[in-house]
Parts: sequence; C-alpha cells; structure tokens
Amino acid sequence: MIEFLKAEKARGRSHVYLDEGAREGLRELFIRARKQVAAPVVTAEPVQQQSVVFSEGNKAEQLAGLRIQAGNWEPARSLGTLRETLVFATGSPDAQIMLVGEAPGHNEEKEEEPFVGPAGQKLNDILKAMGVKREDVYLTNLVKFRPAMPRQATNNRKPTPGEMAACLPLVMAEISVVKPKIIITLGGTAAEGLIGLEGAVGSMRGKWHEVSGIPARVTYHPSYLLQTGGSNDVKRALWEDMLAAMEKLGMAISEKQRGYFQPKA
Ligand code: URA
Repeated sequence: MIEFLKAEKARGRSHVYLDEGAREGLRELFIRARKQVAAPVVTAEPVQQQSVVFSEGNKAEQLAGLRIQAGNWEPARSLGTLRETLVFATGSPDAQIMLVGEAPGHNEEKEEEPFVGPAGQKLNDILKAMGVKREDVYLTNLVKFRPAMPRQATNNRKPTPGEMAACLPLVMAEISVVKPKIIITLGGTAAEGLIGLEGAVGSMRGKWHEVSGIPARVTYHPSYLLQTGGSNDVKRALWEDMLAAMEKLGMAISEKQRGYFQPKA
C-alpha cells in the first residue's frame, strides 16, 4: 500500500478517496499495529484458574457476591498487566438488555463505573434514542480493571486476549445471574473475547450470534463513532443493530426512530 501511495504521489496526486470499507480496513491495521506495540504479549489462556462461587439470594445479592470475587480475581490479578481499581458493572439486575464493553478507561477507573467518559455519553445518547433508560439496562465490561501501560496518564489501551480470557468467567457468571433477553457487545474486542469472533466489526454485525443460548448482537463501539467524526454510514449501521435489538424485544418503534441516520434521498 505504501508503494501504491508513493507511486500516486509521484504522479502528482495529493489526495486519495477511501470508501467506508477501505477506511475500516486501515483502522483495523492501525489497531492491530498499536496492539503489537503497546500491549504486553499474553497468551489467551489464563495462567491461574479460579471458579466463580454463586451466592444465595436474589439477583442483586448474587451480583454483589460476584463483585466481591471480581476484586480479588486471581486469574486477572496474577497477570500483573491490569491496574488495581475494580470497575464492575452498573444498571439493573433485572435488565432485558446487557451491553458488554471491552475494559474500563481512565474516566471509568476514576468513577468506578463502566462507560462514564465520552464513549459513555455517546452510549447514553444511543439508549435515549431507543427510549431506554441507562439504569434499566445492565452495563458491564469483559475486563474488570483498566489495562495498564508504562507512564500511563489518561491514555488507555485495549485489553489483550489473555486479559479477556482471565476475566471471561466473571462476565459469563453475570450473564447467568442477570439472564438478559439479549446481549449487545460494543466493538470488535468485546465480540472477540465474548463470542470468539474474528475480523472487522463490519463482518460481525448485522446478524444474531449466541452466548449461552442468549441472542447476541455485535455493533460498533461508541468510541468508534467519536473517532469517525460521526460518519453517517457508521451511525446508521449501529442504529440498525439497535433497531434489530428493539424488534427482538418486541419494543414499539416509531417511524421517526426507524428513519434515524437514513441517507438523504
Ligand atoms: N470503553 C469500554 O469498552 N468500556 C468502558 O467502560 C469505557 C470505554
């Protein structure tokens, strides 16, 4: 590709047009390259094994039990690549919709709550457009601690496969307690870790998958909307995933909602 771009430059071209597919391909390459540089190399097999213990009681009490176990979760702690502060989950134990992100970032670590930074604000907007309250969904991350980096300030990195594998039993336990009607994974990393999918989000989204017998949908991470500067194609694709989720739940959908982010005729 570099050779191609050099040749184009030599021909006097200063700009090349990239369609959405090409842009996504480049983003994937960028993300993979960044992972190789920034992320510690960890295998997908957690070194330490630990079994989740389920407490007695209602869903809220069982989730409280999981939260305590998560704080001292040896498979994650023993990696030595995650920071100290636990960021567990937020929302309703009786939620019909469970949204799963990848890992907390700087803002989430500070507030000890998932999705409270700019990506969280975007997610709140999406939920509002669906007519759903944030406190009525269950919002969690695959990895329960912010991935560590050298000289880390507000910068974040994606979790490694090893970090996701280490925390997977916790999120699987949350699923079995909450028993949501649908699961939505936000971004390709969470889809990789939770559903075992590979490739670009564009190829994972737009269809139903399954996690423990529960229908699961993959969509773009809200931070991707922020990065793409609000490209209408991506907004519409994400919105179509949300419409599919609403249909699956038998929610009323207005004509106005159906038309959000439709390309102008
Ligand atoms: N991104 C995530 O995947 N999870 C968060 O909680 C915040 C940002």
